Amino acid sequence: MSNNPGLTLKDALQLLDAVVGDAQDAIIIADAEGFVHSLSAAGALSLGLARSAVVGKNLADLAPGVLDGLQGTMALVRLDGMTRHAQVEWPDGNTFQATVVPAPGHGPLMVFHNASELKPRDWMDLVTVVSHDLKAPLSVLYGYAHMLNDAPELSPRSQALVRAIIENVNRMHDLIQSLLDLAQIEAGMGGEAEPCDLVKLVNNAREMLERQAQDKRQTLVFELAPVSPVMANPVRLTQVIYNLVGNAIKYTPSGGCIEVTTEQPADQVRLVVKDNGPGIPLSVQPRLFEKFYRGEGGAGNADGTGLGLAIVKSIVESYGGSVWVESQPGQGSTFGCALPVSPGDSVR
Ligand code: ADP
Repeated sequence: MSNNPGLTLKDALQLLDAVVGDAQDAIIIADAEGFVHSLSAAGALSLGLARSAVVGKNLADLAPGVLDGLQGTMALVRLDGMTRHAQVEWPDGNTFQATVVPAPGHGPLMVFHNASELKPRDWMDLVTVVSHDLKAPLSVLYGYAHMLNDAPELSPRSQALVRAIIENVNRMHDLIQSLLDLAQIEAGMGGEAEPCDLVKLVNNAREMLERQAQDKRQTLVFELAPVSPVMANPVRLTQVIYNLVGNAIKYTPSGGCIEVTTEQPADQVRLVVKDNGPGIPLSVQPRLFEKFYRGEGGAGNADGTGLGLAIVKSIVESYGGSVWVESQPGQGSTFGCALPVSPGDSVR
């Protein structure tokens, strides 16, 4: 996207209006005070009103409660200027994806997109096309930024800027990859299931996880009781292990302790990851496995996309399993998942 210094926020909103007006999806754009600046015809339809009856009106009147529910997210965006995502319930029960974007010199903008209308297959097609189109220019950016980084004539300030570009390109790459993974799993294309030995998969991932924990001087303990095979795709199950243990390492401060356990009560195989990190308030625990949910405060400062636990849940549930969390602020967190033992394989 070119950065045109002559473009005012008003111009940009007019431009957006022209683009959004014809969009097939339900899209609504409002400013920080809740005034709607533009929306698609489908967006107006989702409010049960004509487009002209919505522009300039306030969300507080059109969709009571929505604006209040986003005040915390907007405060965070104002604070650090980072785009954030949240899911909001519209009064009619529809779920909208809200993206809160910083608008330099103004309060943040809110972009609502009705995600509940997308079927998993449509969602996968959309994500596949978008991610494919984004990956190519991102690779070019990444390549050039690395070449620049190696240039000897760069001042320390320029080097810092180039490093920031590389970091952000990596972040965008992670986001695209996570979206693609999630779309594939939700569309039932998570890969062939085969009998997997969870202990073996944990052991395969162990070296890399130990290296990450060492970097934070954390103690990583493995208590791996032998378990029966479970039917799953080994690559996806490995992703579950990396996401759960990776989160424990990421959110537990340096010097902390993480325990990874496998166990088999009855006909279930379980992976349990316990840490002595900051813990999570009860009020937000139901939201942890939602797409794009990111904790606020301490945990929200770590790098991430808010998709890791949604991916874990989708993978585990696609094999008939379940996920859970037990946590209290100041008492650490325990994340677990359970998978049914592969049929006819209940012997350990
Ligand atoms: P991300 O890590 O990219 O933010 P996740 O979906 O993996 O996304 O996690 C969602 C949120 O759950 C995190 O932003 C964080 O607030 C919280 N969380 C996950 N794991 C832990 C943990 N072990 N300790 C504390 N908070 C956690």
